[in-house]
Amino acid sequence: MQTYADFHRQSIEDRDAFWAEQAKRIEWETPPQQICDYSNPPFARWFVGGRTNLCHNAVDRHARDRGDATALIAVSTETNTEKSYSFSELQREVERMAASLQSLGVQQGDRVLIYMPMIAEACFAMLACTRIGAIHSVVFGGFASGSLSTRIDDAQPKVIVSADGGSRGGKPVPYKPLLDEAINLASHKPDAVLLVDRGLTAMQLVEGRDHIWSDLRTKHMDAQVPCVWVDSTTPSYTLYTSGTTGKPKGVQRDTGGYCVALATSIPYIYGGKPGETFFSTSDIGWVVGHSYIIYGPLIGGMATIMYEGLPTQGFDHQPDGGIWWRLVAKYKVSVMFSAPTAIRVLKKQDPEHLKKHDLSSLKALFLAGEPLDEPTAKWISEGLNGKPIIDNYWQTETGWPILSVANGVDNVAATSPRFGSPGVPMYGYNVRLVDESTGLPVETADAKGVLTVEGPLPPGCLQTVWGDDHRFVNTYWNKMEDPAGGPARWVYSTYDWSRRDADGYYFILGRTDDVINVAGHRLGTREIEESVSSHPNVAEVAVVGVADNVKGQVALAFVTVKNSEGLDTEEQRAALEKEIMRQVDADLGAVARPARVHIVTALPKTRSGKLLRRALQAVAEGRDPGDLTTIDDPSSLLNIKSMVS
Ligand code: ATP
Ligand code: MG
Repeated sequence: MQTYADFHRQSIEDRDAFWAEQAKRIEWETPPQQICDYSNPPFARWFVGGRTNLCHNAVDRHARDRGDATALIAVSTETNTEKSYSFSELQREVERMAASLQSLGVQQGDRVLIYMPMIAEACFAMLACTRIGAIHSVVFGGFASGSLSTRIDDAQPKVIVSADGGSRGGKPVPYKPLLDEAINLASHKPDAVLLVDRGLTAMQLVEGRDHIWSDLRTKHMDAQVPCVWVDSTTPSYTLYTSGTTGKPKGVQRDTGGYCVALATSIPYIYGGKPGETFFSTSDIGWVVGHSYIIYGPLIGGMATIMYEGLPTQGFDHQPDGGIWWRLVAKYKVSVMFSAPTAIRVLKKQDPEHLKKHDLSSLKALFLAGEPLDEPTAKWISEGLNGKPIIDNYWQTETGWPILSVANGVDNVAATSPRFGSPGVPMYGYNVRLVDESTGLPVETADAKGVLTVEGPLPPGCLQTVWGDDHRFVNTYWNKMEDPAGGPARWVYSTYDWSRRDADGYYFILGRTDDVINVAGHRLGTREIEESVSSHPNVAEVAVVGVADNVKGQVALAFVTVKNSEGLDTEEQRAALEKEIMRQVDADLGAVARPARVHIVTALPKTRSGKLLRRALQAVAEGRDPGDLTTIDDPSSLLNIKSMVS
């Protein structure tokens, strides 16, 4: 049995041999001639000369070998529908969609923008694009017209695929008027719009431009559209980052590298097997949706659940805090993936909801996207009767985990999870902590540094920023000259702070712009948040640093509470504020104590559920919060504004 550390070392020191072996997990029309071309750093080209197709590997090869196995399970508690598709059925739907897109003029290399709710047709559309070599650009359904129009202008799609609307909490959310408005605002105009009419809201069709999916589907019922083999380095899709720190970046993904990366991650990281079911509660608008709702599970031969609905509402629009676990039991989910923010929503409910269901099929719950605080991790771990809760750390840019727990397969030993840590570097990632000011490696255990990855990035990571190689190089990369005159090293920055303990486990301390400086002490806002959130009545917390004449910066905390009973008067709130401050004093010392703890009803978040600290900080300092196109609930910020001014 090989240790994981050896396996990881081999992936770095014997990179090409390692990935040549992994490349065998997928099917190639032409096998790669060269594993990694890194002759033009920091641009890496993976599996050069190889020709393959994402849709072939996700759908057709399974349809050929095990056509009746379940591929896609589309569940909507919004429309009370549940439908399963076998790999063969999925292939046929994808071919109908591919033929429809072709009939609207889509050719290889064209972009197709997908602005859709969590319905099966969104999956068909993504796979139809990669099937015919078109580049999809999925935009989170429900983004307002402004955000959508900037993405239309950036991607310049030939066709847009959308729907009449989505649904939230049983209420229809019209998409079509937002789409029309976005197309009006954009300078680029698509040739055609393909619409799924769910019968949720009325649509005004634009003559000659708009087409209805059910019509085209009927027309192309028996269409056979072969997968187009493309070079491994051909872009498969573009996707924007969440926009937590500023203007979203258009991440461009390749084909072969991404396919191999996902094919390896299913067994090595997630422990999934063909025939099992993967349930990720994310949305196709985010990277988790791309990698672990659509492509990863399917490439791994697993069934995948697409869920449209709230985490706390079940069928017939009845409150059901256990709906996700009901689905786990019903579909025998083996791997589940969610986000800390979603678990914090559930935490407001009775944990008994989780325990009502038979969760024996479930091997582990993976959480990513935001720091996983210990109270949340413990709450869910207890609720799931001690099932492993695995924090994994990655970015839209990387497409798959940088840090996680290795699942023992193929004679490689597993690594064990550790509370508060997303684990160890995954194979292929040459992770280094570096000192922010000197750029030198941080070798001491538990010392803080910026988490970086030495180039080349492993397969599956971003090739570049769509249409902007300069932005790619300038945003992410630092060139480190070798004092001894050897070749320069290129280092990718995640812009996240981290520390590594003596056993090699990493802890994420927040983003590099989330560090505050109080009277000469550098404090991670994450550390203060951890302490605040350990107060029993704190549901969620955001800490930001604001300018202060005396101390340079002071910390301000904004919290939502689990139980607001007994918090009606100013005095009662002041008492809670004091309790929280005492907690921070005890955990971290008085220097970390927030100057104020504001009790608010909601925190500003991105549409992907991440805290928008930059907007909070701007408002707290009386500045303009800037680009708010990614914010979920602008009123949360307005309330806070009136509170701090
Ligand atoms: P933008 O780059 O546009 O500001 P974003 O960074 O929020 O947005 P994503 O790519 O969705 O966009 O998020 C990646 C970031 O999320 C990471 O860089 C890190 O800050 C945070 N993150 C992800 N997973 C974890 C985790 N397990 N623990 C702590 N932080 C995490
Ligand atoms: Mg980011």
